[in-house]
Amino acid sequence: MRPILDLQGINRVYRTGAGDIHAVRDVSLRIDQGEFVAIMGASGSGKSTMMNTLGCLDQPTSGLFLLDGIDVSKLSPEERAEIRNQKIGFVFQGFNLLARTTARENIELPMLYAHPQFSRSEQERRVDRVLELTGLGDRADHVPSKLSGGQQQRVAIARALVMEPALLLADEPTGNLDTRTSIEIMGAFQALNDQGITIVMVTHELDIAQYTKRNIVMRDGRIISDRKVENRNRSEVEMAKLDREQLAADLAS
Ligand code: ADP
Ligand code: MG
Repeated sequence: MRPILDLQGINRVYRTGAGDIHAVRDVSLRIDQGEFVAIMGASGSGKSTMMNTLGCLDQPTSGLFLLDGIDVSKLSPEERAEIRNQKIGFVFQGFNLLARTTARENIELPMLYAHPQFSRSEQERRVDRVLELTGLGDRADHVPSKLSGGQQQRVAIARALVMEPALLLADEPTGNLDTRTSIEIMGAFQALNDQGITIVMVTHELDIAQYTKRNIVMRDGRIISDRKVENRNRSEVEMAKLDREQLAADLAS
Protein backbone atom coordinates (compact mmCIF):
# COMPACT_ATOMS: atom_id res chain seq x y z
CA MET A 1 0.00 0.00 0.00
CA ARG A 2 1.07 3.55 -0.69
CA PRO A 3 1.58 5.84 2.31
CA ILE A 4 -0.56 8.98 2.28
CA LEU A 5 1.14 10.23 5.44
CA ASP A 6 4.70 9.43 6.39
CA LEU A 7 6.13 11.06 9.53
CA GLN A 8 9.65 10.36 10.70
CA GLY A 9 10.90 11.75 14.02
CA ILE A 10 8.44 14.66 14.09
CA ASN A 11 8.73 17.23 16.90
CA ARG A 12 6.68 20.35 17.52
CA VAL A 13 7.86 22.78 20.17
CA TYR A 14 5.84 25.90 20.97
CA ARG A 15 8.07 28.72 22.19
CA THR A 16 6.13 30.73 24.77
CA GLY A 17 6.98 33.46 27.28
CA ALA A 18 6.65 30.87 30.03
CA GLY A 19 9.11 28.51 28.30
CA ASP A 20 9.06 25.84 25.62
CA ILE A 21 6.15 23.42 25.30
CA HIS A 22 7.08 20.18 23.59
CA ALA A 23 3.63 19.29 22.18
CA VAL A 24 4.70 16.46 19.83
CA ARG A 25 7.78 14.38 20.66
CA ASP A 26 9.64 12.22 18.21
CA VAL A 27 6.57 10.83 16.45
CA SER A 28 7.05 8.39 13.58
CA LEU A 29 3.90 7.24 11.87
CA ARG A 30 2.82 5.88 8.54
CA ILE A 31 -0.78 5.92 7.32
CA ASP A 32 -1.61 4.20 4.04
CA GLN A 33 -4.26 4.84 1.45
CA GLY A 34 -7.63 3.41 2.52
CA GLU A 35 -7.00 3.46 6.27
CA PHE A 36 -9.50 4.74 8.83
CA VAL A 37 -7.68 5.90 11.96
CA ALA A 38 -8.75 7.40 15.28
CA ILE A 39 -6.26 9.43 17.32
CA MET A 40 -7.10 9.40 21.00
CA GLY A 41 -5.61 10.73 24.23
CA ALA A 42 -6.31 13.04 27.12
CA SER A 43 -6.65 16.80 26.73
CA GLY A 44 -3.21 18.34 26.16
CA SER A 45 -1.66 15.11 24.83
CA GLY A 46 -0.91 16.69 21.44
CA LYS A 47 -3.78 15.44 19.26
CA SER A 48 -4.69 18.79 17.73
CA THR A 49 -1.05 19.68 17.16
CA MET A 50 -0.66 16.36 15.31
CA MET A 51 -3.78 17.02 13.21
CA ASN A 52 -2.55 20.53 12.37
CA THR A 53 0.72 19.01 11.21
CA LEU A 54 -1.01 16.31 9.15
CA GLY A 55 -3.22 19.00 7.63
CA CYS A 56 -0.27 21.26 6.72
CA LEU A 57 -1.75 23.98 8.91
CA ASP A 58 1.34 23.95 11.08
CA GLN A 59 5.03 23.18 10.43
CA PRO A 60 6.90 20.71 12.63
CA THR A 61 9.96 22.07 14.47
CA SER A 62 11.98 19.09 13.26
CA GLY A 63 11.55 15.77 11.51
CA LEU A 64 10.43 14.64 8.07
CA PHE A 65 6.82 14.81 6.91
CA LEU A 66 5.78 13.47 3.53
CA LEU A 67 2.21 14.05 2.37
CA ASP A 68 1.36 11.75 -0.54
CA GLY A 69 5.10 11.53 -1.22
CA ILE A 70 5.71 15.30 -1.11
CA ASP A 71 8.13 16.79 1.44
CA VAL A 72 5.93 19.53 2.83
CA SER A 73 8.73 21.29 4.73
CA LYS A 74 10.36 22.24 1.42
CA LEU A 75 7.29 24.16 0.20
CA SER A 76 6.52 27.86 0.50
CA PRO A 77 3.41 28.87 2.49
CA GLU A 78 1.54 29.45 -0.80
CA GLU A 79 2.50 26.02 -2.11
CA ARG A 80 1.47 24.46 1.17
CA ALA A 81 -1.93 26.17 0.99
CA GLU A 82 -2.36 24.86 -2.54
CA ILE A 83 -1.45 21.28 -1.54
CA ARG A 84 -3.79 21.53 1.43
CA ASN A 85 -6.68 22.64 -0.77
CA GLN A 86 -6.01 19.85 -3.29
CA LYS A 87 -5.17 16.92 -1.08
CA ILE A 88 -6.94 17.38 2.25
CA GLY A 89 -10.53 17.82 3.35
CA PHE A 90 -11.19 19.11 6.87
CA VAL A 91 -14.16 18.44 9.14
CA PHE A 92 -14.50 20.23 12.48
CA GLN A 93 -16.50 19.75 15.65
CA GLY A 94 -18.53 22.90 15.05
CA PHE A 95 -19.48 22.23 11.37
CA ASN A 96 -18.35 25.77 10.33
CA LEU A 97 -21.13 26.21 7.77
CA LEU A 98 -22.23 29.61 6.42
CA ALA A 99 -25.64 30.25 7.97
CA ARG A 100 -27.55 32.03 5.21
CA THR A 101 -26.22 29.79 2.49
CA THR A 102 -27.79 26.57 1.23
CA ALA A 103 -26.14 23.18 1.64
CA ARG A 104 -25.27 23.16 -2.06
CA GLU A 105 -23.60 26.59 -1.88
CA ASN A 106 -21.67 25.64 1.26
CA ILE A 107 -20.40 22.56 -0.54
CA GLU A 108 -19.34 24.63 -3.58
CA LEU A 109 -17.15 26.97 -1.49
CA PRO A 110 -13.79 25.14 -1.72
CA MET A 111 -14.08 25.12 -5.52
CA LEU A 112 -14.03 28.93 -5.55
CA TYR A 113 -10.38 28.75 -4.47
CA ALA A 114 -9.37 26.08 -6.97
CA HIS A 115 -6.66 26.72 -9.56
CA PRO A 116 -7.54 26.35 -12.35
CA GLN A 117 -11.25 26.98 -11.86
CA PHE A 118 -13.60 24.12 -12.66
CA SER A 119 -16.18 24.57 -15.38
CA ARG A 120 -19.78 25.01 -14.27
CA SER A 121 -20.68 21.47 -15.38
CA GLU A 122 -17.68 20.00 -13.53
CA GLN A 123 -18.74 21.89 -10.38
CA GLU A 124 -22.23 20.46 -10.68
CA ARG A 125 -20.91 16.94 -11.22
CA ARG A 126 -18.77 17.20 -8.08
CA VAL A 127 -21.54 18.61 -5.89
CA ASP A 128 -23.98 15.92 -7.05
CA ARG A 129 -21.39 13.24 -6.34
CA VAL A 130 -20.67 14.34 -2.76
CA LEU A 131 -24.38 14.90 -2.02
CA GLU A 132 -24.90 11.28 -3.08
CA LEU A 133 -21.88 10.03 -1.10
CA THR A 134 -23.14 11.67 2.09
CA GLY A 135 -26.81 10.79 1.53
CA LEU A 136 -27.92 14.43 1.38
CA GLY A 137 -29.57 14.38 -2.06
CA ASP A 138 -32.93 15.92 -1.12
CA ARG A 139 -31.54 18.43 1.41
CA ALA A 140 -29.31 20.33 -1.02
CA ASP A 141 -31.41 23.49 -1.13
CA HIS A 142 -31.91 23.88 2.62
CA VAL A 143 -30.02 26.38 4.77
CA PRO A 144 -28.21 24.92 7.83
CA SER A 145 -30.89 26.00 10.35
CA LYS A 146 -33.40 23.80 8.48
CA LEU A 147 -31.15 20.75 8.86
CA SER A 148 -30.57 18.44 11.85
CA GLY A 149 -27.15 18.36 13.53
CA GLY A 150 -26.29 15.15 11.73
CA GLN A 151 -27.31 16.60 8.37
CA GLN A 152 -25.27 19.75 9.04
CA GLN A 153 -22.21 17.63 9.79
CA ARG A 154 -22.86 15.67 6.58
CA VAL A 155 -22.90 18.96 4.65
CA ALA A 156 -19.53 19.75 6.22
CA ILE A 157 -18.25 16.32 5.18
CA ALA A 158 -19.58 16.79 1.64
CA ARG A 159 -17.80 20.17 1.49
CA ALA A 160 -14.59 18.51 2.66
CA LEU A 161 -14.89 15.94 -0.14
CA VAL A 162 -15.75 18.19 -3.07
CA MET A 163 -12.11 18.71 -4.07
CA GLU A 164 -11.75 14.90 -4.15
CA PRO A 165 -8.96 14.94 -1.53
CA ALA A 166 -6.57 12.07 -0.87
CA LEU A 167 -7.28 12.41 2.83
CA LEU A 168 -10.12 13.43 5.13
CA LEU A 169 -9.10 14.89 8.52
CA ALA A 170 -11.65 15.37 11.29
CA ASP A 171 -10.97 16.87 14.74
CA GLU A 172 -13.69 15.68 17.17
CA PRO A 173 -16.35 15.46 14.40
CA THR A 174 -18.92 13.97 16.80
CA GLY A 175 -18.02 16.26 19.73
CA ASN A 176 -21.22 18.32 19.39
CA LEU A 177 -23.57 15.45 18.57
CA ASP A 178 -25.77 13.15 20.68
CA THR A 179 -25.09 9.41 20.72
CA ARG A 180 -27.50 8.47 17.96
CA THR A 181 -26.30 11.22 15.62
CA SER A 182 -22.67 10.36 16.39
CA ILE A 183 -23.33 6.78 15.29
CA GLU A 184 -25.03 8.11 12.15
CA ILE A 185 -21.97 10.22 11.32
CA MET A 186 -19.61 7.29 12.00
CA GLY A 187 -21.81 5.36 9.53
CA ALA A 188 -21.28 8.09 6.94
CA PHE A 189 -17.49 7.86 7.52
CA GLN A 190 -17.59 4.05 7.27
CA ALA A 191 -19.46 4.27 3.96
CA LEU A 192 -16.88 6.75 2.63
CA ASN A 193 -14.01 4.58 3.85
CA ASP A 194 -15.63 1.52 2.22
CA GLN A 195 -15.34 3.52 -1.03
CA GLY A 196 -11.61 3.91 -0.47
CA ILE A 197 -11.41 7.34 1.18
CA THR A 198 -8.64 7.61 3.80
CA ILE A 199 -9.85 9.12 7.08
CA VAL A 200 -7.96 10.28 10.18
CA MET A 201 -10.03 11.60 13.06
CA VAL A 202 -9.54 12.72 16.64
CA THR A 203 -11.93 11.57 19.32
CA HIS A 204 -11.75 11.18 23.07
CA GLU A 205 -14.61 8.65 23.07
CA LEU A 206 -13.49 5.03 23.07
CA ASP A 207 -16.76 3.68 21.66
CA ILE A 208 -16.58 6.16 18.76
CA ALA A 209 -12.99 5.10 18.03
CA GLN A 210 -14.29 1.50 17.80
CA TYR A 211 -15.96 2.39 14.46
CA THR A 212 -12.56 3.00 12.87
CA LYS A 213 -9.99 0.38 11.83
CA ARG A 214 -6.96 1.57 13.79
CA ASN A 215 -6.61 3.33 17.13
CA ILE A 216 -3.62 5.47 18.07
CA VAL A 217 -3.27 6.78 21.63
CA MET A 218 -1.12 9.81 22.48
CA ARG A 219 0.24 10.84 25.85
CA ASP A 220 2.53 13.83 26.50
CA GLY A 221 3.19 14.27 22.80
CA ARG A 222 4.15 10.65 22.13
CA ILE A 223 2.31 7.73 20.57
CA ILE A 224 1.95 5.21 23.40
CA SER A 225 -0.25 2.70 21.60
CA ASP A 226 -1.13 1.92 17.98
CA ARG A 227 -3.37 -1.04 17.28
CA LYS A 228 -5.76 -2.51 14.79
CA VAL A 229 -9.39 -2.49 15.96
CA GLU A 230 -10.76 -6.00 16.48
CA ASN A 231 -14.55 -6.46 16.28
CA ARG A 232 -15.16 -2.97 15.10
CA ASN A 233 -18.57 -1.39 15.53
CA ARG A 234 -20.74 -1.15 12.42
CA SER A 235 -23.06 1.81 12.40
CA GLU A 236 -26.09 -0.05 11.03
CA VAL A 237 -25.81 -2.74 13.73
CA GLU A 238 -25.54 -0.19 16.55
CA MET A 239 -28.42 1.88 15.11
CA ALA A 240 -30.63 -1.23 15.05
CA LYS A 241 -29.72 -1.89 18.73
CA LEU A 242 -30.74 1.67 19.64
CA ASP A 243 -34.04 1.19 17.76
CA ARG A 244 -34.78 -2.03 19.67
CA GLU A 245 -34.01 -0.33 23.00
CA GLN A 246 -36.33 2.52 22.06
CA LEU A 247 -39.09 0.09 21.08
CA ALA A 248 -38.69 -1.80 24.37
CA ALA A 249 -38.85 1.49 26.29
CA ASP A 250 -41.96 2.57 24.37
CA LEU A 251 -43.67 -0.77 25.06
CA ALA A 252 -42.82 -0.55 28.77
CA SER A 253 -44.18 2.99 29.21
P1 ADP B 1 -4.91 18.09 22.55
O1 ADP B 1 -5.55 18.42 21.26
O2 ADP B 1 -4.61 16.63 22.73
O3 ADP B 1 -5.72 18.62 23.72
P2 ADP B 1 -2.90 20.08 21.89
O4 ADP B 1 -2.15 19.65 20.68
O5 ADP B 1 -3.95 21.11 21.71
O6 ADP B 1 -3.48 18.78 22.63
O7 ADP B 1 -1.85 20.61 22.95
C1 ADP B 1 -0.65 19.93 23.31
C2 ADP B 1 0.16 20.84 24.24
O8 ADP B 1 0.61 21.97 23.51
C3 ADP B 1 -0.61 21.37 25.42
O9 ADP B 1 0.27 21.47 26.51
C4 ADP B 1 -1.05 22.74 24.96
O10 ADP B 1 -1.22 23.61 26.05
C5 ADP B 1 0.13 23.17 24.10
N1 ADP B 1 -0.25 24.08 22.99
C6 ADP B 1 -1.14 23.82 21.99
N2 ADP B 1 -1.21 24.84 21.13
C7 ADP B 1 -0.33 25.78 21.57
C8 ADP B 1 0.08 27.07 21.11
N3 ADP B 1 -0.43 27.60 19.98
N4 ADP B 1 1.00 27.74 21.83
C9 ADP B 1 1.52 27.21 22.94
N5 ADP B 1 1.18 26.01 23.43
C10 ADP B 1 0.28 25.28 22.77
MG1 MG C 1 -7.47 19.23 20.76
